[in-house]
Amino acid sequence: MIRRRKLLGLIAAVPFASVLIPRVARAEHYIAKVCGNCSFGSKKDNCARCGKWRGSTAIPARLCSEHGFGSKGDNCVVCGNWVGSSWSRALLCSDCGFGSKRDNCVLCGKWAP
Ligand SMILES: [Zn+2]
Ligand SMILES: [Zn+2]
Ligand SMILES: [Zn+2]
Repeated sequence: MIRRRKLLGLIAAVPFASVLIPRVARAEHYIAKVCGNCSFGSKKDNCARCGKWRGSTAIPARLCSEHGFGSKGDNCVVCGNWVGSSWSRALLCSDCGFGSKRDNCVLCGKWAP
């Protein structure tokens, strides 16, 4: 006389709350880009702001709403040329991206939350 209750229905009741990502209401910062020329070869390992070798540190650089708006956001933050289709994210060294500095525009230094 074995009685087994199958409670598989409970598994379906596990909430999906942990999967949900809170949406940012307003994005005021833009992705800073570097052109294919400035990210070519070992140059991609240099900080987009100070040009120093950044090693394994890769903190994504930002642009403020002024410098990243519209077509301006498609300009290389290193040389200013249009990045076209061969761009990569501008990355900062541990110094330029330290603490709250990573929240600043890589071009003008203004806060770009
Ligand atoms: Zn730097
Ligand atoms: Zn460039
Ligand atoms: Zn700016």
